[in-house]
Formats: sequence, structure tokens, C-alpha cells
Amino acid sequence: MDLRTLGEFGLIEAIRRRARVDRRVWQLGIGDDAAVLRARPRESLVFTTDALVEDVHFRWRTTEPRWLGEKALAVNLSDVGAMGATPLGCLLTLGVPEGVEPAHLEGFLDGLLRATRDSHCPLVGGDTVRAPLWLINICVVGGVARQRVLLRSGASAGDRILVTGELGGAAAGLALVDSEGATTPAERRLVARQLRPRPVFRAGAVLARAKLARAAIDVSDGLAQDLGHVARASGVSARVEVERVPLARGLGRCAARLGLDPLALALSGGEDYELLFAAPRSGPSASTYAERLGCRVTEIGVFARGRGVHFTSAGRPYSPAASGFQHFKPLPADSEK
Ligand code: ADP
Ligand code: MG
Repeated sequence: MDLRTLGEFGLIEAIRRRARVDRRVWQLGIGDDAAVLRARPRESLVFTTDALVEDVHFRWRTTEPRWLGEKALAVNLSDVGAMGATPLGCLLTLGVPEGVEPAHLEGFLDGLLRATRDSHCPLVGGDTVRAPLWLINICVVGGVARQRVLLRSGASAGDRILVTGELGGAAAGLALVDSEGATTPAERRLVARQLRPRPVFRAGAVLARAKLARAAIDVSDGLAQDLGHVARASGVSARVEVERVPLARGLGRCAARLGLDPLALALSGGEDYELLFAAPRSGPSASTYAERLGCRVTEIGVFARGRGVHFTSAGRPYSPAASGFQHFKPLPADSEK
């Protein structure tokens, strides 16, 4: 896939040929000035976008083009799921350097288009530009029954805090990638959590449809920070026992080898793309949720009156070692605490 011979329009045509669109959902995909979605009654549409920038979010030295294509879509699907919505389609803005490596382009599109097929989220449009570094921006449109949207603001005092999967793995994986790499199969799994996240994005729609959650967020910037968003938006506090937080398999051993604190990775490490949600006090047990969602689900605490996120360890207050990820850290004086 050589951009020098294809040119911009050749590349777009190559993408168009490979992007299958369900014409019952989309009146028009790639090819005109804009894509056309067939609107459905009583459905709300959710829109989300997430960008990956070379040397900020990824390095070619440490990832595979195919994985990057998968991840670019995955991080967006995670947001759509956290709204209780089902993905309908996506748009791709692709910025690539003039002399882009044909294998990088080919691999990236392979990974992305495979991910769009697997998630039934077709590529319906985008833009292609020259850029000094790779810039991948994907926008996903999703649909959700109007009364079922899952917001951050829906939690009440007394609701239970549940989280899917396990935490800290992606942050440990990043630490491995940035040091000497994985040395064991367990560490390779942690690296995969970082480079090939697999969000349980369908879980959000299941929760929304069955009215099993009152609020939700995807854990992309660390549990402490993302739970803080839910608590603040809902006007409640969150209480979490750190002993109950599900640590990624192999996290303890890996963190020990790298001299890191596994709990800090689990509470403040980013990019786990798990789903955090508020479940009504007298709802089903975590194991029933796990069955319904087809993944691990753990109850880690409760929402209560008041504000802030409060962790306890062995019954005593516990302060996480670090806050979550932010691209632009405010000066301490400006930061909300
Ligand atoms: P315009 O100049 O009107 O913006 P473009 O030449 O940029 O048109 O795009 C032509 C068509 O190709 C549009 O349907 C657009 O959505 C689609 N397209 C352009 N780049 C991409 C891309 N990277 N991925 C998917 N579709 C794309
Ligand atoms: Mg354009």
C-alpha cells in the first residue's frame, strides 16, 4: 500500500472497497461529501471521538501497525458502551507523513477494518491528510433507546460500585514496554492489555437495556480519577475498599520486578478500558452481573452521601500514590481536590 503510487484518492478508494456497510443502517457510506445514517424513531445517537498521536500515544518501535488499528477503534467503542449505546459506524481522520511506510499503512488498515467487522461498526467516512507524524482520529456513532442512556450523573447514595474485568494491567504493560519488555507469558499478557485493549463494550448496552445500571463510565484514566468523575457528576461520594479492587493477573509479580506499586497501577494507571457502573442497592449480585455480561464483575464499594472518592485499606483511610492520567496537568493551585 504505497501512498506515493496510490495518491490520496487511490488510498481512499482502496479503503472504500474494503469497508463494508450495512445499507439497512446506512443510506450512504464512503464516497460522497458525507455519510448518511437512516434515523430511527425513539433512538438517541451518541457521538464520541478519540485520537492517537505518534510519540504521544504510541511508538512504532513498540507496537504493531495492526494492533494500532484495533486500538484506535477499541478506545472509542469503550466510550460508546459506557453510554449504554451500541456502535453504528465510525469515521477515520488519518494523518500520515509523506513517505509513510507502506507496511505501516497496510497493517494499520488491516487491523482497523478487521476491528470494524468484528464490532459491526463499519467505516463510513473520514478524511486523509499529510502530517508530520501519524495522527489517527476515530469518531464513532452509536445508538441507544432514548430513555436508556447511561450517564455519569445517575448514581445515588446507596448504589453499589461494580467494575468489569481487572485493573492495572495496561499500566503495567506500558511500564514493561517502556523498559526492557516482557520476559514471561504473564508479562506478555500485561503488554497485550496495553497494546491490544479489548473493551467489553457490549456490556454497557446490556446493562442499559435491562435497566441494570444507573450510571456508568469507562475506566480509561485510572479508577480513582474516573470514579471521581461519576461521584462529582452524581453529587455523591464513593467509598472503595482497596482489597476488593480486582488486580490484573500477574500484576503483583510484574510490579515487584519493576519496583512499582501494584495498587497504584490498579487505582491510577490508565487504559484498562473496563466498565465502571452504579448498580442499585438491592439489585442482582456481582456474579449475576458477570453471567449477564459474560465477563468478570466485582463489587468494590458503595456510593454514599457527601463528596470525593475515599479508599480504605484494612478499614483505614488510604491515599493512592498518584492521580490518574491527564494530557495537561493543571498547576496544583488550580486543580480540584
Ligand atoms: P471532501 O474533499 O469532500 O472532504 P474527501 O476526498 O476528503 O472529500 O473524501 C471523499 C470521501 O472519502 C468521503 O466520503 C470521505 O468521508 C471519505 N474518506 C476520506 N478519507 C477517508 C478515510 N481516511 N477513511 C474513510 N473514509 C475516508
Ligand atoms: Mg476531506
